[in-house]
Amino acid sequence: MAGPVELTPELLGIGFTSQRTRNRMVDRLEKSGVRHPQVLEVMRTLPRHLFVDEALAHRAYEDTALPIGLGQTLSHPLTVARMSERLMSNTPQRVLEIGTGSGFQCAVLACLVPQVWSIERLAQLQKRARERLRRLGLHNVHLRHTDGQWGWPDKAPFDAILVTAAAPRIPQALLEQLAIGGQLLIPVGDDQKQSLWQVSRLEQGFEHQELDPVHFVPLKPGQSN
Ligand code: SAH
Repeated sequence: MAGPVELTPELLGIGFTSQRTRNRMVDRLEKSGVRHPQVLEVMRTLPRHLFVDEALAHRAYEDTALPIGLGQTLSHPLTVARMSERLMSNTPQRVLEIGTGSGFQCAVLACLVPQVWSIERLAQLQKRARERLRRLGLHNVHLRHTDGQWGWPDKAPFDAILVTAAAPRIPQALLEQLAIGGQLLIPVGDDQKQSLWQVSRLEQGFEHQELDPVHFVPLKPGQSN
């Protein structure tokens, strides 16, 4: 894992993007029940404002999801923190993310676990995410431009798979690419009603658990520019 990133003066931010602003966001995450020390530390140090357009940078630490272009969104900080905390429960070594988007959730994971693979279907978003991850020196991330519902078979099995777009149903390929003892976190549902599901792979099969209501953009088939 990369550990918390080193913030050079140009990455640090000022005013609405300053360390004070990040600290206040982390105070709110703690008040909302996030406990995992490493997750809190990473949320405190990662410059979330670099993952949105400059015009929106001043809103990067607000308790809200933000547009990242092409109709997609960077999730609410609490959503990212809670999903990351849940994912860390079995100390995964190899993690697959579906829906790179801005690259923020991917960057959080890269600081927490040794190896991250992340798939995005929109080439333009992937290109920007790649630049951001490189700028932060996060080299333990492997990106791929394709339809993520088929997973990344040649790199399987994964200890954890995190899907950051809502699927109408759980893709079979992702279940097959889970290691024994691994877990899949995936929002399931449509635009009206979604909840986060945790599927654990045991020796004898899969255990499904429905968690909180959530709201993600849809998982779409195919790939595009
Ligand atoms: N994790 C992202 C959230 C981005 S929103 C972040 O931290 O910013 C969800 C992303 O999933 C979008 O970028 C969308 O293009 C992507 N997506 C939707 N369907 C997909 C699919 N089938 N395969 C890969 N990516 C997909």
